[in-house]
Parts: sequence; structure tokens; C-alpha cells
Amino acid sequence: MQLPKICSILPLVMKMYADVLVEIRSKHIDKTFTYHVPESLEKEAIVGKRVLVLFGKQKLEGYILALKNTSDVKTKDILEILDEEPVLNEEMLELGKFLQEKTLSSLSSCYSAMLPKALKASKKTQIHKKETLYLTLSGELEELQKEVTSTSQKDVLALFENEARILKSRATKVSASAVKTLLKNGILNEEKEEVYRYQIKKQEEESAKILNDEQQLAKEKIVSSFQKNEIFLLHGITGSGKTEVYLNVIEEVLKLGKEAIVLVPEISLTPQFVERFSKRFPDDIALLHSGLSDGEKYDEWRKILRGEVHICIGARSASFAPFKNLGIIIMDEEHSESYKQESSPRYFALDVLKKRSQTHKCPLVLGSATPSLDSMARAGKKLYTYLPMKKRAQNAVLPECILVDMAEEVKNRHPIISRELECSIIEKLNKNEQVMLLLNRRGHSTTITCSNCGFTYRCPHCEISLTYHKSSKNLRCHYCGYTKYIDDLCPNCHEKSLNYYGLGTEKLEEYLENIFPTAKIVRMDADSTANKGMHEKITEDFQNHKYDILLGTQMISKGLDFPNVTLMGILDADASLQIPDYKSNEKTYSLLSQASGRAGRKEKKGLVIIQTFQPENYILQCVKNHAYLKFYQYEMNIRKTLKYPPFYYLILLTFKSKDYSTVSKEANKAKEFLEQNKDPQTILLGPTTANMFLVNGVYHFEILIKYRFDDKLINTIKELDKFVLLNKKVTMDIDFHY
Ligand code: ADP
Ligand code: ZN
Repeated sequence: MQLPKICSILPLVMKMYADVLVEIRSKHIDKTFTYHVPESLEKEAIVGKRVLVLFGKQKLEGYILALKNTSDVKTKDILEILDEEPVLNEEMLELGKFLQEKTLSSLSSCYSAMLPKALKASKKTQIHKKETLYLTLSGELEELQKEVTSTSQKDVLALFENEARILKSRATKVSASAVKTLLKNGILNEEKEEVYRYQIKKQEEESAKILNDEQQLAKEKIVSSFQKNEIFLLHGITGSGKTEVYLNVIEEVLKLGKEAIVLVPEISLTPQFVERFSKRFPDDIALLHSGLSDGEKYDEWRKILRGEVHICIGARSASFAPFKNLGIIIMDEEHSESYKQESSPRYFALDVLKKRSQTHKCPLVLGSATPSLDSMARAGKKLYTYLPMKKRAQNAVLPECILVDMAEEVKNRHPIISRELECSIIEKLNKNEQVMLLLNRRGHSTTITCSNCGFTYRCPHCEISLTYHKSSKNLRCHYCGYTKYIDDLCPNCHEKSLNYYGLGTEKLEEYLENIFPTAKIVRMDADSTANKGMHEKITEDFQNHKYDILLGTQMISKGLDFPNVTLMGILDADASLQIPDYKSNEKTYSLLSQASGRAGRKEKKGLVIIQTFQPENYILQCVKNHAYLKFYQYEMNIRKTLKYPPFYYLILLTFKSKDYSTVSKEANKAKEFLEQNKDPQTILLGPTTANMFLVNGVYHFEILIKYRFDDKLINTIKELDKFVLLNKKVTMDIDFHY
């Protein structure tokens, strides 16, 4: 029988090539380039590692996305492989592509958003492991002591009498030259040990609380769906004990040897919150948030990678925590705006978490006292499992809530603090209880106008009025950061006739100091917490009752739990209702309810006083009556009528350029293109000038797209994106809203 011939001309040496995604994050260059892997690097070349390559004449970093044996193009050599272990594992590599598709941004920018700075492909940043050096003896101490003669060397060796290993820095303090000689002569050995820069403060361990019925039920439902990718909406009023449920569920996850991600909004990532976790799970937590240095973040990331911790608590970026065996994912305060990134890639952490819960087959818990309309609507459609908790834990009751009509108060010369609020503050202070005041506007005065000539200070780049910051004696633009020193005279007519209008937290603080001269007052806003650790310090000091009144911006509205606070005053509740945004009602409801929830969290009953010029406003009435469902139905009706989410999806296209006519032309062309290619039911609005029309000298035009079912729309926008990319003078931001 004739055997078929086997081809025997196998290539003797297979060459290796890598597809590399370079660090340039622009959409202009959003593709991989093929490089040759020199033989000496073949063993180390693994998909997901970073490499150094020549790109044009520049040396740049990039990620290896694929390896192969052939290349159709002429290639350069990879210069260096930068990682011992891949920075992107298989899940991450996939996740990046998923994000790219969801946000229509460059793949490189997606990977970059997923990684801590130390691990991003970026030639500029060099963040290293921190290492500590130790010294050990090369033999028996007594033997070695015989070998040395100099006293300084003997002194160094003496350090080893009680310890086998000592810090090198301690030994060099005795004698640096002796240490050097001892190392050279092989009497001492040097050991390197990696140290982590960040450690969560140690807490006394605490055991689990006994859950009440509602909590128990929620826990059981979640636990019974371990191994499934079910999504839960845990709708528990403020103080109902959601955090306690998370802790109990995580305990079960840990028993299975699995891992947990807990996402919280940046501003509620308070020491209080972390403390509760670290009391229950000491040494098992990594923390990821913007308050950490890049080195610290790098270390926290590695604790996760190495499996040294099972829990990661963090802000938005923690959704990428590189766990390999997730058992639960929790998103606390799921309605929070901070879960959407507002720069490219404009991703929703929720999309990432949903994807990861599918990959890991684990439940995803969305917790909130005021769920987003979107989540509530999904729960209504049974896409999410609804878990309500309607009682406050420990039998605390919801605070009483009063709306004060400020029109009356202005007449009575109480324009800042109403009579009602003033009396209540005095009463609480007399009882030695604490007060919180919310004013969601920082700075001192928001408008400075000359009463002689009418001059008003405006930002030269953004055309909006500048806010006066008294402590630093300057004017600041809250959009672009422009600052200007101010003196007493009007720069226009040179008269001493400037007037300071509008109330910010700084002015409020001054005012309070005047009317409550004996009270101890502290302010918490972006300015007073600009320095590292200030947020923690103010929180801790207020908790220890070093202050009677805490006033602040929305920073104080979330997550804080002070048992002695019995009064929450909300000044200017109308401000957030007036923001031109389809979500302004929703944001107001949630801000005010969250803030209200700070009062009366333990046995003492709380009081909330809301100052407003529209006490009849339906949203405020709902806040007053703790009527979330009423608010929900009311707002859903509006959204339906006006064709907004969750009934329609939105895409906002923003066209930007320093040149007015170019951007206006380009936006109009885009509109035409969309018009020709869209589904008949899809609605296009604009182009119009944006709310912030001129920011930092750049003009903004917007097109809003509202759609429900439009299969082709995403492709149309991709096409449009390519056209716009051709015009170097204009950029187009693509921003998805749900
Ligand atoms: P939420 O996260 O819903 O606002 P928390 O979990 O912060 O509520 O709970 C509010 C307060 O009630 C906390 O001080 C917490 O320690 C306490 N608490 C919660 N659940 C229980 C329970 N089952 N037994 C005793 N105290 C509880
Ligand atoms: Zn400005």
C-alpha cells in the first residue's frame, strides 16, 4: 500500500512576530503594528506584556496583543520586554475590546484607563516597587566575630546578638564603612524585600452583627444565587443596613475562597466606610482610589494580582481590579454620577461590572437608597431582582423633614439661615448634639460686581462669572481653573465699590461664626480638603465631637454616619433643580435624600430643614415625605413624555475647535450625514451651542441623538467619526448616556 507523502520540509527556525499596540492613545493610530521578536527575547515574549519599540524615530512603549510566526510587512525588532508578568491577562484583554466598542474610543486609551499608572504603557512614567534592604549573617555569630578585628565592625555584628536579620539602614547608622567591608568580605549578606507603601490602619476586629429580617432575606437571596450572574437591586433607605448586608455576603464569598469587588463613589470612600470592612476582614483588603499616590496604587494592585487579598474596595477604577475568581461584585450608591468617566474613554463602571459578573458567573449587587431611574425601571421589568429594605436598622426612624419658604425669610431679613433653622441649630447646640449644613457651592462669593460702573469679573476663556475665594484672596473659574488676584478697587473705574454677591461655603462659614460665636465650626469642600489626609482628619474630628457644626458641599451628603448628628440643614435646595440637565430632578432628589439620611441615624431622632423658594415643588415634597416611589413615577412620566432615558438612549456628540466657523460648519455637516443614515424613529437635536459654549478658548457645539432601536446607528457614528478625524482642526467627543 502506498502511504501518502508527508511534507518533510518543515522550516527549521520559526521566526516570531508580535502585534504591538503602541502607547499613542489617539484614534488616528488605533491599530497594532507588527514587530519582530529577536531570538533572545522569544522566551519572555508573552501576550499582555509591555514592550519598548521604535515607532518612527521615537522609542515608545506598547502592549503585545498577539504573537505569530509570519509577517507580511517589513518589521523592526522589539527593543526590550518590560514586564516579568503580563500586565493584561486574558480577561482584561477582552475587557479592553469590549470598552472600545461600548465607548467608541481608542483601544489604547481603554487599556490605559484599566491599569494603574505604573503599569500603563507610557514611556514617561517610571514607578517602581519599593524595596527594603536587610542584612543577615553568613554563618554563626561567634565564629564570625572571631574573624573581625575593628571595633566598628564588631559593633555592627553586635546588632545580631538578638536578631537574625536587621534593617540595613540600622546597621549603617552604626558604621556605614564597616557594613560595606563586612559585605565585601562575605561576613554579611544583603537581602532585598519588597514593601508595600500603603497599609489600611489596623482596627480592632469585630464580629458580624445579627441581621434583622429584611437584611437576612436580602442576604439569603444573594447567597442563593452564587455561581449565577444575577443582578440585584438592593433598595434600602438610608441607615437600613445595606453595608451590613454587604459584609455578611462577603463573608460567605470568602468561605468559598473567592474574591469581592466593592465599588463606592469617590466621595463616600471615607475612612468610616473602610474601617467597617477592615474591622471585619483585617489584612484582606486592597484599596484603590484617587487619594493614593501612584506608588501606593501600584502596590495595592499587586496585592490583588498576587492573591494576597480577597477584597478590593475602591472608586470607579476598582471595577478593573485584577481578581481571577470573583464571587461577588457590589456597587454601593449605584445611582452615583461618579461611576461614569467624564473623559475618554467615557465608560460606565456598570457596563464593566456586568461584563465581569458574566465572565466570573457571580452576582452583581447594586445598592442605593435612591436608585437611578434606569435601575429601578430594570427592576420593574424583572431584569434585576428587587430587594427592598424599608426599615432603619437598630429601630432608628427616618428624620422629620421641614420645607422652609425662603421668600418669607428674605422679607424678614433672614436670607441665609432662616429663623426656623437658626432656632433649631441653637436648640441642638444647647443639647450638645451636632449639626450638618449642606451648601453645594464652594468659594466665598459667586459674583463680584462694581456698584459704580457695573463691571463684573468674568473668566476671559469661558465667559462665566468668577468665584471669589477669600482664603486665597483670588478669583477662580470653576470650569477651567483660571485664577486672578483681586484687590479692593474696581479694575474698570478704580473706585472702591465692589460688591460680593452669591453665597459659597466660605462666606457661609464666616456668617455662621458671627451668629454662633461659641460654636466650633468646620468646613468640608474641595478647597478645605485639597491636602492629602484632610478629608479623614475633618471626618475623624467631627466624629469625636471636636466640632459642633460641619458645613460643606455634597461631599458631606454621602456615606457618613455620625450618631450624634440630629439636624441637617440644606441651604438653597433650588440650585440643583435649576441645572439645565434632564437628570436635574433625579440628582436633586438623590442629593437631598442622601443628605437628609445623615440625621438621626441612631436612637436620637433627626430633623431636616430644607430652605427653598419653591416649597410646593413636587420633587421637594417627595423628599420631605421620603416618598421615593412617588418621585419615581412622577419623573418616569416626564421622561416618557420628553423622550429621555430610560425610555430612550442618548448619545451626545460634542464638536470642539478653537475656530468658531470651522466647528459650526463641521457640526452641521455631521447633522446632515446622520439625518441621511438614521432610523426614521431616531431623533436628532441640534447642532446647538453647548451649555458651556466657550471653555478655555475652545468653542463647543452639540448634537443630541435620541434613539430606541437603531441597528445601524453605531456604525453610522463610527463612519462619522472617521470623517471628522480627517479635519485636524475639529474634534468630536462621543458620549453615551443611559
Ligand atoms: P446603610 O448602608 O443602609 O446606610 P448602614 O449599614 O450604615 O446602613 O447601617 C446603619 C447603622 O446601623 C450602622 O451604624 C450599622 O452599624 C447599624 N446596623 C446595621 N445593621 C445592623 C444590625 N443588624 N444590628 C445592629 N446594628 C446594625
Ligand atoms: Zn474659565
